[in-house]
Amino acid sequence: MAVVERPGERIAVTNPVSGETIGEILVMQRDEVFATVESARAAQPAWEARGAWARAALLSAWDDALWRDQENIIRIIRRETGKSRGSAYVEVAVIDATVQYYTKHGPHLLRPQSRRPAFPIRQRTRVYYKPYGVAGFITPWNYPLLTGFIDLIPALIAGNTVVVKPSEIAPFTAEYAINLMYQVGIPRDVIQIVTGDGRTGEALIDSVDFISFTGSTATGRRVAARAAERLIPYSLELGGKDPLIVLKDADLDLAASGALTGAMENAGQTCVSTERVYVEEAVYDAFVSRVLYHAQQMKLGAHDDFDTHVSSLTNERELRRAEDHVRDAVEKGARVLIGGKPRPELGRLFFEPTVLVDVDHSMKVMQEETFGPLLPIMRVRDAEEAIRLANDNEYGLSACIYTRDLKRGEQLATRIDSGDVSLNRPQMTFGTLAVPMGGVKNSGVGRRNGPEGLLRFVKPQSIVVDRALLAKPALTQADPMTRFGVNVMRVARRWLPFL
Ligand code: NAD
Repeated sequence: MAVVERPGERIAVTNPVSGETIGEILVMQRDEVFATVESARAAQPAWEARGAWARAALLSAWDDALWRDQENIIRIIRRETGKSRGSAYVEVAVIDATVQYYTKHGPHLLRPQSRRPAFPIRQRTRVYYKPYGVAGFITPWNYPLLTGFIDLIPALIAGNTVVVKPSEIAPFTAEYAINLMYQVGIPRDVIQIVTGDGRTGEALIDSVDFISFTGSTATGRRVAARAAERLIPYSLELGGKDPLIVLKDADLDLAASGALTGAMENAGQTCVSTERVYVEEAVYDAFVSRVLYHAQQMKLGAHDDFDTHVSSLTNERELRRAEDHVRDAVEKGARVLIGGKPRPELGRLFFEPTVLVDVDHSMKVMQEETFGPLLPIMRVRDAEEAIRLANDNEYGLSACIYTRDLKRGEQLATRIDSGDVSLNRPQMTFGTLAVPMGGVKNSGVGRRNGPEGLLRFVKPQSIVVDRALLAKPALTQADPMTRFGVNVMRVARRWLPFL
């Protein structure tokens, strides 16, 4: 990294599997962050003037370069997170889908829109979508490519220039991917990186025109308060405690393997991780035995193949929390069906895929975000109790229901208080780019993906053109001509709804 040549405070970056230091980053100071944002601001008008199709073409070229280079990018992601090859591949695949969606639909969504005027014929109205200027991105370590870039792609297409502060725990993926952007011709001041920790993040909030934050709920609150001081718009993608409900008519093998996949993807360090399972009494025992069967097939290790299901955790903090949640649950009466312990002989941060039964809502594992490879399963009387318990949580990010009755499943889904719900496969909104994704309650503010994910990066400007037909000079808004027009439109709109 070029910046490490400069003097200043550094943070070492560690490979979680081997424990070795793989590099260090500079903690960029406030004045450096401000200077970076100023250069992004100076570059913004020219980037906007290129037009949305030209910007989309450059991002498509970047996506192709990234796809061709996926072996390298997967290696870099894995080196700084310790995740499995499959989870690193998911990052590349979702970013590819994101670029494809926004390069195709973004320019259309950004076209000025005609809207209904107050007085038809005499007036014409249009809404223009103008970029904010410089959009800042503060991102977490768990998916350094996916969460690092999924939001900034629509921001760039919308005509903003971008400054990213990746997590100090996994910063090199972002650096590599941004260098690929430069290689395909995206100008250097259009997208830039600032390195450091929370202090650097704070300086970014204090200087940009929009802040997009992905990370923990605790930090998200601080980001929102700081953004509010400057009255800049923001979006927050925060933590979750996603429920998965198994109804008695579900395909139990599908549900058992799906619950394990949802809970163990990236060793559970996924915002939309399956963190709680509620199973109808009638199929509880059969479901638990299918979970045990599938859990016994799961491969744990740092192998370089797609058959390894669970790899290392990224931080010691996550390992300690997983241990704490298991200990707390067992003390309160839960049973460990499989797993439950760290596996230091595989690497310092390995924790076994763990299934807990006989759990209830007094336990941390059913209340707090675990962010580790734990799957607690709770018996419920019926679907009503499952929905009530699913909603009994401070978070509301994503949820999943397993059932063969798709119509009833969809009706039940609308009663869960979360940003999205999928049926018969968890985590489906990641990668389903046309639908918005985001949290309610303590899981966030705003939406990524879909038209909503693009339009959050623009400020709508309404232009109303009065053709001044039959207009006479007047010194009041309630002149005779206007009063006549109001009366006509009042009646006309009652009978002609298209007006
Ligand atoms: P974190 O909140 O500790 O850090 C996130 C980022 O914020 C980092 O870049 C960090 O340097 C920066 N930061 C820290 N203090 C700051 C401050 N005061 N001001 C500005 N920036 C600051 O989160 P994390 O541990 O990196 O990520 C894990 C969390 O992220 C989990 O809770 C997970 O659920 C959540 N997450 C959510 C989504 C989503 O889409 N909803 C996606 C991925 C992760």
